[in-house]
Amino acid sequence: RAKAAGKSGYVVFDEAMHVQARQRLQLETDFRLAFERAEFLLHYQPIVELKTGKLVGAEALVRWQHPKRGLLGPNDFLPVAEETGLIIDLDSWVLREACRQLTHWRKAYPALDGLVVNVNVDERQMASKEMVEDVFHLLQTHQLPPSRLRLEVTETVFRSGRKHAEAQLDSLRALGVGLAVDDFGTGYSSLESFAASAFDALKVDQIFVRDLETNPRHRAIVRTIIGFAKDLGLLLTAEGIETEGQRQMLLELGCEYGQGYLFAQALPPDEFEQRL
Ligand code: C2E
Ligand code: MG
Ligand code: MG
Ligand code: MG
Repeated sequence: RAKAAGKSGYVVFDEAMHVQARQRLQLETDFRLAFERAEFLLHYQPIVELKTGKLVGAEALVRWQHPKRGLLGPNDFLPVAEETGLIIDLDSWVLREACRQLTHWRKAYPALDGLVVNVNVDERQMASKEMVEDVFHLLQTHQLPPSRLRLEVTETVFRSGRKHAEAQLDSLRALGVGLAVDDFGTGYSSLESFAASAFDALKVDQIFVRDLETNPRHRAIVRTIIGFAKDLGLLLTAEGIETEGQRQMLLELGCEYGQGYLFAQALPPDEFEQRL
């Protein structure tokens, strides 16, 4: 049987591989074109004070309006962006667009004076030489108070060329922008390297929030992260809050801010405005 299936098995496998490779290549071609065609857009997920539900910020999350495949999320195209190095161009665009949008909102809604916009930055972008200068120029151009911008990076930033990354983070902090570790607790940074870094904020990963009420180990981890953040004077935001029970428990544990479907998903700018 193995013999009989073997030959045709290989043919099927080859074909599947071929189709996959072709799709991948198509995605890469489309991705390059997407810049010219202005197909990227940002959705904004509200970040709220857990106690009151008051809006304090928004996380910019990139989307791609693909001409054939519809609206794609980061998981559909970030791998290609990373492999091709185009993530640098994408993140530069995201940063520019988020600053433009924030500036627009600040002008249109004076009550949003304190609103902070969080932007995700790939570790490679974070390490690029132009990063500090780009951020500086954007703040200047838009006359934005630096504290209204917060950059989110995952812990992997500590992994590659640590000294360089640290210098880079210090320079960004010196500009006055906020720096948050995204998905905290899932990466590889030592607490020591983190404690010595310029980060002023942490985001508790949603895997710990998801089963907070049923998993005592995850609850212990969250409690520890909250204590750690408090002692170091860090701003703490919990991600992926979907239920009232999770919100209550996070409040009891002492977490001040959060985001998640319980409050709102990531929204197109016009829908975000309607919620204001
Ligand atoms: P992240 O920065 O940890 O963002 C949170 C993700 O969780 C977002 O997914 C968000 O839509 C989703 N989320 C929010 N609330 C809930 C909830 O209550 N339940 C669940 N199950 N999920 C929730 P999204 O938009 O698909 O983004 C995925 C990841 O892609 C982000 O994770 C971030 O690492 C990356 N990303 C997004 N935008 C950018 C960008 O502009 N540049 C870079 N380099 N990465 C980005
Ligand atoms: Mg994030
Ligand atoms: Mg996250
Ligand atoms: Mg993530």
